[in-house]
Amino acid sequence: MTAKVIPLVDQRTANRVPVIPAHALSPVGALADTRGRLMRDLRISVTDRCNFRCTYCMPKEIFDKDYQFLPQTELLSFEEITRLTRLFAAHGVNKIRLTGGEPLLRKNLEVLIEMLAALKTHEGKPLDLTLTTNASLLAKKAKALKAAGLQRVTVSLDSLDEAVFRAMNDVDFPVADVIKGIDAAHDAGFTAIKINMVVKKGVNDQDIVAMARRFKGSGHIVRFIEFMDVGASNGWRMNDVVPSAEIVRMISAEMPLIEAEPNYTGEVAERWAYADGSGEIGVISSVTQAFCSTCTRARLSTEGKLYTCLFAQSGHDLRTLMRSGKSDEKIASAIGLIWNQREDRYSEIRTEETVRTKKIEMSYIGG
Ligand code: SAM
Repeated sequence: MTAKVIPLVDQRTANRVPVIPAHALSPVGALADTRGRLMRDLRISVTDRCNFRCTYCMPKEIFDKDYQFLPQTELLSFEEITRLTRLFAAHGVNKIRLTGGEPLLRKNLEVLIEMLAALKTHEGKPLDLTLTTNASLLAKKAKALKAAGLQRVTVSLDSLDEAVFRAMNDVDFPVADVIKGIDAAHDAGFTAIKINMVVKKGVNDQDIVAMARRFKGSGHIVRFIEFMDVGASNGWRMNDVVPSAEIVRMISAEMPLIEAEPNYTGEVAERWAYADGSGEIGVISSVTQAFCSTCTRARLSTEGKLYTCLFAQSGHDLRTLMRSGKSDEKIASAIGLIWNQREDRYSEIRTEETVRTKKIEMSYIGG
């Protein structure tokens, strides 16, 4: 049988081995890019595999049984992830989000969490350690994750309507099992759990208000995300996007909302509080109100490439530096140079043309 040609493989190999500056940059201290944006957050993809086939993220037609996921030897080991995280933390990163693929599919993830929880920020504080999951394995793992030192959890849930949710995850996964995962996380001691709903017009926008209603007063925070043109496989069209402003209007018509101050500069979600004091929602408007100007996020792919934008077309191969025996100082110096040269602001310059470029897939780079 001839091997199936998969366009994503090309993207994954479109990478560069980073340049190590001749005059070493300081391996510690905050890094600013060409637009003065500091590096503060690191999203780490711990696996490119997922047990869901969300139609807007890992459509079955591409991620089918012939799709070549990365072999185990290609993945960064827990030691490699921890080493890089320590170098990023020395450069000012204070927030880590583990993602994927589905991060809970990575074996013994709690061991990695324990290793990361032992690291400190440049100021000597613990890192803010969070995880994004589809919750399919959360009921089983919540306690162990909490015990290992995970601080916060974000759960993805695109609809409370059984038929809509099952069609969107495309593996017939029931809503009730996601709710069980959320409840288990709550019982394990996680608070203010965030619940991400990606809104796609004509698919689940009729469920927006029901979602807000369901979690109002629960202490959890639903965040409505505009459908984005990440990757090259989800057939994105501007017409599929429901603008956040409209989402806020729809919810506010039934449950009045008041705009709330951001928790910190560069927060991705815009916060809206219920006027009756029963909690808040968030909206993430990466299409209609780009937030590139305050973007402090770096991304580490499953096999160790550093991406400076979710919409990047290629990454910087840190794994090669590690596996060829480069010192911490040299790798930290290379990371410094990459961030110093960062210019990305994709969402501000999105056009019909850029939408069609071969961007890296979200399941690979990490959401
Ligand atoms: N498997 C985990 C999960 O389901 O949360 C983590 C990875 S997933 C790629 C991370 C987040 O990205 C999810 O909340 C998902 O809904 C969101 N996402 C994926 N593709 C997206 C797109 N095209 N636009 C907006 N959000 C997207």
